Amino acid sequence: MEVKTFGVIGSGQMGNGIAQVVAMSGLDVIMNDIKDEFVERGLQSITKILNRSVEKEKMTEADKDAVLNRIKGSVDLKDMASADFVVEAATENEAIKSQLFRDLDGICAPDVILSTNTSSIPIGRIAAQTQRPDKVIGMHFMNPVPLMKLVEVIRGLATSEETFKTTWGLALKFGKTPAEANDFPGFIANRILMPMINEAVFCLYHNVGTPENIDTVMKLGMNHPMGPLALADLIGLDTCLAIMETLYDGFKDSKYRPCPLLRKYVEAGWLGRKTGRGFYEYK
Ligand code: NAD
Repeated sequence: MEVKTFGVIGSGQMGNGIAQVVAMSGLDVIMNDIKDEFVERGLQSITKILNRSVEKEKMTEADKDAVLNRIKGSVDLKDMASADFVVEAATENEAIKSQLFRDLDGICAPDVILSTNTSSIPIGRIAAQTQRPDKVIGMHFMNPVPLMKLVEVIRGLATSEETFKTTWGLALKFGKTPAEANDFPGFIANRILMPMINEAVFCLYHNVGTPENIDTVMKLGMNHPMGPLALADLIGLDTCLAIMETLYDGFKDSKYRPCPLLRKYVEAGWLGRKTGRGFYEYK
């Protein structure tokens, strides 16, 4: 099926980044969230980024308007009935995603692929919520979506070859480089990244170093573009904790236990950049 209209569920930092990249590739986008204010915030975030591109003369005003005109906001999941392909980028919570996939399965035409941007939840468990497990796949964009080249494409046990090829082709169309992973908790990216971030939080918890020193060691010593604690703040500490919980539950291996300090920050609402405070403060 030719994909003309692309559905995005969630208009948070990942959802709005995906909507922007997809609209820039020329497709129409429906970007859904649970509240008007969340959709509005997502649209504002896209507008801000595109305005910057216009200022830097990387894009014309007319192109910016064309991209924005291709993105329609929605607070009614039934709007996904007109989507030819859906990526779900709602909060990293299995109950929320499971309900969404059950609902989308009833709303979308039977040949529509339902993909998920989950960071860690097994694709097979999400696919099992639907009557179309062959058309469920992981399409894992990286943050910030407009800048990061990678899309991890994850096959569930039942994912068909056709679903895989369509998803791979779309990642290429969006100017990304896809990499294939199989369905285990955390896939490749977060199986490796998140235990490193968690260990950095343990370093802070055990007072091995300050956030600045921990990040400096990893930036200058390992040539990482960002330190792990600054990266955790960018990802969102709630998302980091949810990924560690999925790794821990999935493997039952103590090496994946989330650091108590990470949990404490999340419980306090210190979620990183999105709330203005995480391991660092953001004005
Ligand atoms: P976020 O908190 O910025 O946004 C999540 C959005 O989902 C919110 O706007 C929320 O209102 C919305 N939402 C919640 N329930 C919904 C529902 N039932 N229907 C529609 N919208 C709903 O989170 P995020 O960082 O954008 O993460 C979204 C997904 O992308 C998660 O699965 C996360 O693991 C994954 N992801 C995150 C990153 C990252 O660096 N943050 C990177 C790759 C993948």
